[in-house]
Amino acid sequence: MIRQFELVERVRAYDRMVDEDALNRAYVFAMKAHGSQKRASGDPYFSHPIEVAGILTNYKLDGDSIVTALLHDTIEDTDTTRDDIAEQFGEEIAQLVEGVTKLTQIELQSDHTSQAENFRKLVLAMSEDIRVLLVKLADRLHNMRTLIHIRDADKRRAIALETMEIYAPLAERIGMHELQNELEDLSFAELNPDARESILARLDFLREQGGDIVDRIIDELKATLQTSKLRAEVIGREKKPYSIWRKSRRKNISFEQLADIIGFRIVVDTVEDCYRALGIIHSTYPVVPGRFKDYLSTPKPNGYQSLHTGVIGPHQQRIEVQIRTRDMHEIADFGVAAHWRYKLGGDRTAGRQYRWMRELLEILEHAATPEDFLEHTKLEMFPDQVFVFSPKGDVIALPVGATPVDFAYAVHSEVGDTCVGTRINGKIMPLRTELGNGDQVEIITSAAQTPSPLWENFVVTGKARASIRRFVRMKQQEEYTSLGRAILERTFDKEGYELSDKALGEVLTVFALDTPDALCAEVGAGHLTARQVFEAVFPGARAEGDEDNIVSLSQVRDKLKPDGAGSVPIKGLIPGMAVHFAVCCHALPGDRIVGIVTKGRGVNIHTIDCGILEEFVDTPERWLDVSWEEEVAQGAGHVGRIEVVMTNEPGTLGELSMIIGRNGGNISNLKITHRSTDFFEMSIDVEVRDLKHLTNIIAALRAAPVVNSVERARG
Ligand code: MN
Repeated sequence: MIRQFELVERVRAYDRMVDEDALNRAYVFAMKAHGSQKRASGDPYFSHPIEVAGILTNYKLDGDSIVTALLHDTIEDTDTTRDDIAEQFGEEIAQLVEGVTKLTQIELQSDHTSQAENFRKLVLAMSEDIRVLLVKLADRLHNMRTLIHIRDADKRRAIALETMEIYAPLAERIGMHELQNELEDLSFAELNPDARESILARLDFLREQGGDIVDRIIDELKATLQTSKLRAEVIGREKKPYSIWRKSRRKNISFEQLADIIGFRIVVDTVEDCYRALGIIHSTYPVVPGRFKDYLSTPKPNGYQSLHTGVIGPHQQRIEVQIRTRDMHEIADFGVAAHWRYKLGGDRTAGRQYRWMRELLEILEHAATPEDFLEHTKLEMFPDQVFVFSPKGDVIALPVGATPVDFAYAVHSEVGDTCVGTRINGKIMPLRTELGNGDQVEIITSAAQTPSPLWENFVVTGKARASIRRFVRMKQQEEYTSLGRAILERTFDKEGYELSDKALGEVLTVFALDTPDALCAEVGAGHLTARQVFEAVFPGARAEGDEDNIVSLSQVRDKLKPDGAGSVPIKGLIPGMAVHFAVCCHALPGDRIVGIVTKGRGVNIHTIDCGILEEFVDTPERWLDVSWEEEVAQGAGHVGRIEVVMTNEPGTLGELSMIIGRNGGNISNLKITHRSTDFFEMSIDVEVRDLKHLTNIIAALRAAPVVNSVERARG
């Protein structure tokens, strides 16, 4: 275990200005916090954060990162709180430690390897500060180095698999190839020890056979470059067993000679020298076709830059050569972490090609002070996406601003269609809540429910929007059909005929329609009158006027029997608590509802779409998960509020109240909110039995020629 003064010395070696006091305090803090906790190896637990800090000193990371590494498990595994850390080490460190803790928590949620890509994105998106990710990767590296101490073989395997599929690719993504290689190799040892053993044996054999061949190749390459007066360093690096195995599988390449498993690197001073070195190599040795790649002019997305080529080199050995500058070389091994060196080292600014880090680097270059720099190290890697968990632990990617309804439709359109409520991180929340990274979202469904047209106001995904629209259109069509059928039935009835689909079928061609239902719908929507249809069926007859057809609607609609029950038909209430229906939205039986606990007033019932609910988003503890009893007591006294726009003509108000009255509603309040020469706009409170009853009245009003529009009022 690295001792306290040793750790401080390591950091001081590359950063003279580091806050030694903070390092010392963090070291002691971690020891005390973890106390007598033990690792699976039997070592004291605090050896782990200290080793993690040690790993990060290899990457020459700043003092804050090292302090974060020392404290990284204190919130998750000890009594320490975020506030404790903020108090003792400042807000910056508290944020970093909290960031690492959050990553640890999502990691514990589920098996993510089946959804590796999304989970990697989630980890990146949650690493708002890149140092959080660096600490997490170092944490994983140390856990992998000590993996053998875990007794349970299944658990070891699961951790190795996760490392292979999540963390090694993440390291690659930010260009930390050295760390990536080690993670992969440690996982490989656990996942496929036989393959690894055979590769190691083969390596030993080749080394023995080859003797000092690698050194001789290096010497000759050096000499070749020197004759052209090119200053260059030549390095031979043996590939790790896992990368040999992967390559031999992917490209079916055998490794017969030692040179096959050694990558030769030529490190020069400038970009021009890279191309000069390439020219010298290509003109000295036969080129292996198809091996040349120019990652210098076109860097890899993670910023990696090099020239790659393959030649039959010295001693007739087929070799792979990578040519790059010193700065590129550091980035190739250390990736993102290399940037801290530039920060500490002054004016070197290579590696600006990190595509997703471009913004960070720009800030880095333009920041006036180190504080400025730290202020802006927040990364926005997926600014337009948010990643959430399903209850089973699946990660689902959604656009930013997505709500539980979007989530529900993303899971399955049936889940969306029957969605009635949601729990976010275990708490009932309104369906319009914006989801955040790492939220666990559960959708409450009920087969009896259908999509609400109001959802369209807040969903952001095309799938959700299209499904809601499709449903609303279908619903409207059904409504028009039954309304039209009722109107036709009444007209036919008055004339002494019975309406039949057969009769309607005869005249479909007259109206260029396909089905009797479609014909009814046209009548219901007001595109055709019942008289037109009747006269088409019986060309000789003349039907009476159909002005009062609307009233027939109430006769054919479901007969709802008021039973006058006095109690509140709501489930989920706290016994003895007073209940009020909020006047902003006028919830009706059949509405999706939520209760809000109000000090001194009991519970207010709102519709789940009520705009007022926004005000309670920050106080989820006041939310009450309530629903209507299945057998709703349909006594009078429920008040629905509708907003009506109608033509400003004499008698229109009378007609309005007549339609409502004929359909069994009772106007309890009417307010004209706006009046122009052509139109009235008014807000009407109607006593109804339930939502269905109100919907019937709305449908009847919509069918009246004087009514321009009718909408239910919402908060
Ligand atoms: Mn840890």
